[in-house]
Amino acid sequence: MTLPVIIVHGGATVFKELHHEEILIAIEKAALTGLSAMDKGGSAVDAVESSIWVLEETDLFTAGRGACENLDGDIEVDAMIMDGNRLDSGAVMAVRDIIHPISLARYVLERTPVMQIVGTGATRLYNNMIAEGYRKESELLRTMNIPIAHENDTVGCVAVDSNGHIASGSSTSGWPGKLPGRIGDSPIIGSGVYANELAGASCTGKGEQILRIVMGRMAVAYVENGVTVQEACHQSVRVLRDRTPGEGGLIMADYNGNLGLAFDTPHMPTAIAKDGKVAYSSMTPAINGK
Ligand code: ASP
Repeated sequence: MTLPVIIVHGGATVFKELHHEEILIAIEKAALTGLSAMDKGGSAVDAVESSIWVLEETDLFTAGRGACENLDGDIEVDAMIMDGNRLDSGAVMAVRDIIHPISLARYVLERTPVMQIVGTGATRLYNNMIAEGYRKESELLRTMNIPIAHENDTVGCVAVDSNGHIASGSSTSGWPGKLPGRIGDSPIIGSGVYANELAGASCTGKGEQILRIVMGRMAVAYVENGVTVQEACHQSVRVLRDRTPGEGGLIMADYNGNLGLAFDTPHMPTAIAKDGKVAYSSMTPAINGK
């Protein structure tokens, strides 16, 4: 298989048809941005951060600039990034008002001895990050459009760099009207996101259901037990469907650059980039026609 390679999703949900084209353009751009980071010598972690950053910058998804309000009308976002080879990750939860939680999650991964930060501690860390010049924040302009996805929505990514190192990540605001302080699967290691030296996964769907089956770690464990990433995706969605009332999906990659995906919602916009270009994109993706 070709390395580096990247697979990006825009959430397992239902998107209004009017926006399908711009959603595909956005996820293709995100996949290309991540690929180009790796083509320039960057790591899989660089690719995941830059790719998710691009999606957070649009207002098409309930993440980043398009984040939805909770029950109190506040915006609280979650994100996680995991480096499979280091078996290390950074996650931020219920952070108020920032556009790019994925960069704060990267900061947690690279610059702190901890893995998960929430609430006022996360805000303080964010201020440190900006003051240090580690990353810049976008201007805090939000468009308060009616959400394009009908319910919950998340963006996610798995990348494999030229060394065969895997990283995965996710960014979300959960669903409109969620309880203040609610955390879904996305920033929880092993549930929404997982990666080791063999494979990585990024999940999407109803967080309360994905958490019950610890879906990301489960999917990687299937690969450890000898199945392909594509079969691991199918089996994980099957468990989600059989054991919970949830719907959802996931994307995966292994260290050879083999890719997988599965979902049981109407849409899960997905783009794959390798060899310097977008190799595939679809609102209703299928790998190998399955
Ligand atoms: N899993 C996310 C959450 O529950 C939402 C989504 O993936 O659409 O926060």
